[in-house]
Amino acid sequence: MGVLNHRFYFRILVKIEGMRIRTEKQKRAHAEEMRVWRATNLETARVRSKVASAKWRATHPGKVRYWLDLWAKAHPGRRAQWCANRRARVLGAEGSHTFGEWRALLEDSGYACSYCGCTDKPLARDHVIPISRGGSNYISNIVPACKPCNSSKGTG
Ligand SMILES: [Zn+2]
Repeated sequence: MGVLNHRFYFRILVKIEGMRIRTEKQKRAHAEEMRVWRATNLETARVRSKVASAKWRATHPGKVRYWLDLWAKAHPGRRAQWCANRRARVLGAEGSHTFGEWRALLEDSGYACSYCGCTDKPLARDHVIPISRGGSNYISNIVPACKPCNSSKGTG
């Protein structure tokens, strides 16, 4: 009985393995097909994936937040970086800077506000020449500033 059972399971395992290999082959063939299609239909592929992800985002609001939270937790500071660049872009500023540049600036300044020198408050990006006066969003136009200094100066 035990031997029979053993053989039975072995046959199933072989079958499953065969199925796995087949689907993997199909997947690879499909991926290659998709790659070729994308390469020859760049614009359509771009629009399609944009539409698909917009649709997915619209139908899975909770999931989007979940993944964003997960991503934000795994990459501290990156969301703020993304928001800062986006805000500047919306305001019409030229250029952008990376999270690495911002972090290097913080390290260079010893994590101190560049106006009052305090080190106990959270620091935000302050545009030396405000975007409203044509200042860029390049790192060369940015200094770390605490919230009171940032808001007293008016436009970031
Ligand atoms: Zn300050």
